[in-house]
Amino acid sequence: MNHSRSEALFARACDLLPGGVNSPVRAFRSVGGTPFFAQRAEGAWLFDVDGNRYIDYVGSWGPMIAGHAHPQVLDAVARTMRDGLSFGVPNALEVDMAEAITRIVPGCEMVRMVNSGTEATLSAIRLARGATGRSRIVKFEGCYHGHGDSFLVKAGSGVMTLGLPNSPGVPAALADLTLTLPYNDFDAATALFDRAGQDIAALIIEPVVGNANCILPRECYLQHLRELCTRHGTILIFDEVMTGFRVAPGGAQQRYGVTPDLSTFGKIIGGGMPVGAYGGRRELLRQIAPSGPIYQAGTLSGNPVAMAAGLATLALIEAPGFHDRLEQATHRLCDGLESAARATGVAFHTTRLPGMFGLYFRHGPVETLDDARASDTARFNRFFHAMLERGVYFAPSAFEAGFMSSAHGDTEIELTIAAAREAFALIAD
Ligand SMILES: *Cc1c(COP(=O)(O)O)cnc(C)c1O
Repeated sequence: MNHSRSEALFARACDLLPGGVNSPVRAFRSVGGTPFFAQRAEGAWLFDVDGNRYIDYVGSWGPMIAGHAHPQVLDAVARTMRDGLSFGVPNALEVDMAEAITRIVPGCEMVRMVNSGTEATLSAIRLARGATGRSRIVKFEGCYHGHGDSFLVKAGSGVMTLGLPNSPGVPAALADLTLTLPYNDFDAATALFDRAGQDIAALIIEPVVGNANCILPRECYLQHLRELCTRHGTILIFDEVMTGFRVAPGGAQQRYGVTPDLSTFGKIIGGGMPVGAYGGRRELLRQIAPSGPIYQAGTLSGNPVAMAAGLATLALIEAPGFHDRLEQATHRLCDGLESAARATGVAFHTTRLPGMFGLYFRHGPVETLDDARASDTARFNRFFHAMLERGVYFAPSAFEAGFMSSAHGDTEIELTIAAAREAFALIAD
């Protein structure tokens, strides 16, 4: 593969953008090499500026669950944009979007639209603090909730990839209000709530950890957290920015049958446009301005073009059997990768949910952050590059989940597994 145009662009970008990128993991720091620059994308495929093409298992980090440039999404955007890009007064698509989210997601009676997942989690935490009059929050080691100050404490993939436990620039006085727990540890959560429960405004969690690769909750773990929060008057927040509309139409809360007080969304509800949302119990959402005193606002929130892209994407995922097909495709891919690895003797394990998977260069099971960290990252990096050279793009970090879309068909999956057979043989040693 020739990468000369991408390399020239990256050299230019490095002078102009920190690390040459607008979001850290794009820079390929942990896997080495230079990132490729996209020219266009279609279905399951990404095309770079040098004319190479890749089967894409990143999907813009989650939004493209219906595949890139889906005609129905593009049509909705094109139709909507002709009426103007932003109004600053309410428009009907915001109401349609709120109706769709509250219909699909079990825990949402009302929602507020924002412009990113980061904004959604920041706002949800403010709401929880305002509603409870408490200051402390609890998050889980390895979970990422966007780049808000309170969340950059043991914060998952981006920071794990770069080996930064906490970020400079976050005042200690604020970081001290964030308590952390190990994911999937029942007793640690019980002990923390016994000790400090009356001070904890909110517990925020990725119900499936998608920012430390892909770690599924142990049986009844989310129920356990639900009970602790109820008992101690703490607001339970499911950060479903990644899992929402993906692991089930109604997200992880539907899949695992646990209803949080608040939920945060992003990625899929924007269909590729910058969108976030938070929602939950009516009695809580009513405390947000202007119906209540807790302030939160946004010049472009509920943007009509973004709503149109999101609504078109939600219509696609609501088609009967969408998630069943996505789940079957994910199993086909992961089973194929595991059997290709077995044939070469490379220690390898996958975790999977519909449209979402984790690749680990170790034997399973993987249930904790320590299990995930024990993956052989050097071997992952060699696998990543061997696959990239064969036209398959996995996330450029051993700690990012992979994503599939409804556009990943048998052809793409078979091509991927064939490439993986060669890649595993190459890295087997
Ligand atoms: C991506 C992500 C965020 C942040 O969303 P942005 O739109 O990048 O701000 C928050 N939480 C989770 C679980 C995410 O995966």
